[in-house]
Amino acid sequence: MATVELKNVRKTYPGGFEAVKGVSIDIADGALCVLVGPSGCGKSTLLRMIAGLETITAGDISIDGKVVNAIGPAERDIAMVFQNYALYPHMKVYDNMAYGLRNRGMARDEIDRRVNETAKILELSNLLQRRPRELSGGQRQRVAMGRAIVRSPKVFLFDEPLSNLDAKLRGQMRVEIKNLQRSLGVTSVYVTHDQLEAMTLADKLVVMNAGMVEQVGAPLDVYEKPASTFVASFIGAPPMNLLPVTVNSSGFSFADGSAVAGNGFAGSKAAQIGFRPEDVAIGQGDGCLLLDFQTIAVEPVGAESFLHGNAAGSPVIVRVSGRASARPGDSIPISVPEAKLHTFDAAGKRIEP
Ligand code: ATP
Repeated sequence: MATVELKNVRKTYPGGFEAVKGVSIDIADGALCVLVGPSGCGKSTLLRMIAGLETITAGDISIDGKVVNAIGPAERDIAMVFQNYALYPHMKVYDNMAYGLRNRGMARDEIDRRVNETAKILELSNLLQRRPRELSGGQRQRVAMGRAIVRSPKVFLFDEPLSNLDAKLRGQMRVEIKNLQRSLGVTSVYVTHDQLEAMTLADKLVVMNAGMVEQVGAPLDVYEKPASTFVASFIGAPPMNLLPVTVNSSGFSFADGSAVAGNGFAGSKAAQIGFRPEDVAIGQGDGCLLLDFQTIAVEPVGAESFLHGNAAGSPVIVRVSGRASARPGDSIPISVPEAKLHTFDAAGKRIEP
């Protein structure tokens, strides 16, 4: 087991593109750290640098307190699980799992013990004699996990391991990976662009944007207190509603001129007010921001419904449980508790009154 530490890590690709622009993250022993962000934000580059598959332009990466910048991938004692599983198609499941151990010259008995033990954990015992093409997507994913686990590495690295699976299986495998990681207690770094996967898996969530870290924290802390409009929009589905306002010493006012009294900010400046769709109630409430909501569309998804419409001149989404009584064209009062309002400055950074 090990800690993983990144100190001001940078990556400039040949040709001059800077994909990672000074990232620092500390990952505790046994923790599951998820790097999440949109396509191209540099998360795979970062993971590949931790693996030793990509050189580091500047900064330090340490595993277990030891700087590994100049150490090759094979000597880092890490195991990586890829999106495409990277299984050997001509080898049986058993041999796919045993391959890395044989390469290291491990004794046959020990290999056999480890493969069988891991197969049992992953419920692959009956499939050891099959070839990858004779397995389902979920089973292949388990073999890829098994190949990482048999090595008992210091660190697991996962690069979008579930993105080739359908939604239902992805949900199941997410739970399996979380339970497995917890029971094995192996420090892990997991890359995904899926915010739900990131929220449900992470002990430590790292939200990345354009080669930089936007926010680091426990998933629910990040959800409840996003550091920027980028994080507020990226984490949570549907995303947080963001409405342009001018904040002033007595509260704020919307673009249509309607003023809202509340906690003030020094000076008068452009800003954005944010609130989550689930923090909106239909009707009026005390200590709340009150708005007129013009319903454009109603989206029932079973246990809840999403109302799409406009309020104070901006698009707003409202989440209600069960069936919605509002219909397209309806104008209804909505309210948001003041404690559920978020404020961001013109640059998108969170500000407090
Ligand atoms: P995705 O989710 O699409 O895989 P990502 O966040 O993992 O995205 P990276 O693969 O790390 O992003 O890429 C970050 C940026 O670096 C992208 O703009 C990409 O085009 C660029 N990049 C990646 N590999 C190279 C390379 N070998 N040479 C030049 N630029 C590269």
